Amino acid sequence: MKFRFIAFTLAFISISRALAGAYESLPDTISRLNEIVKSAGSEPKWACVTTGNKSQPSPAVGRGTKSENRLWQNAGFENAKFETWPADMLYEPSIINDPGFTHEIDLSVVLYRGTSWDKESIRQRFKSMAKVLRQCKLKISKVKFIEADAYNGWLDVDGVIRKNGDRESQISEALPIKSRPVFVYLRSSRLTATGYAIPQYVVEESNPAKDTIWMTELSQQLSPNTSLEAHELAHVLLNSGHVDHGRNRNILHIKPNRQNNKIGNERGGQCDQMKKYGAVRSINTKD
Ligand SMILES: [Zn+2]
Repeated sequence: MKFRFIAFTLAFISISRALAGAYESLPDTISRLNEIVKSAGSEPKWACVTTGNKSQPSPAVGRGTKSENRLWQNAGFENAKFETWPADMLYEPSIINDPGFTHEIDLSVVLYRGTSWDKESIRQRFKSMAKVLRQCKLKISKVKFIEADAYNGWLDVDGVIRKNGDRESQISEALPIKSRPVFVYLRSSRLTATGYAIPQYVVEESNPAKDTIWMTELSQQLSPNTSLEAHELAHVLLNSGHVDHGRNRNILHIKPNRQNNKIGNERGGQCDQMKKYGAVRSINTKD
């Protein structure tokens, strides 16, 4: 299976180079798949899927109001279930009220039923991302989580924005969630990407796919040591592709093997830039 993915990846590599740089590029995928292949047989380092820590607070489960359910159904997302994850589902109690946080952001997740993703593993991945964002004193204050049947039954998306239409744009347009960034967890992209973001510079301002993030099942096979969610979110918050940081490792390093969880905070750095993103609020000067 892995080698088949790589074969596909190689076949599409030239196409990928023609795509916007912010996509989780296929060289990224190759590199990460190589890591997977290398690690096979040794200690498994793939994304761990832990289930149900009973000590965690119960999610704020809601079936959704009738009008909310109707809205999603009419939009083409059947059988939607709604939850809100407050910060205490993402941080240890001692951290939630950390006075060190200066900014916060709300995020949204849409999980497609019928994939190998599940709610608890996504929450664990969001906890990892939350840890990475602490470097910037940026808190995830709330996550709106929706599980629904796939729009049009499309468990797979195109992995590319096309002028004459692509699934990502159509799904984004139909999504009742208008706030961004939004993560969509689904089965695959046809270009075998793991996860990829569509920051503003990739599309026209009016494109509904702007600031969306797409996570395929292949992402589950990457090392959990580097948060792919944080990497993709960085693409969106920084409106940036990969950057050549030379010898320094970085969350958006142009060389996949030098990507890690490090967000640069030097003068004019990535943390400062992230805080300028529209949906990021200052905690101290809330409106
Ligand atoms: Zn990337």
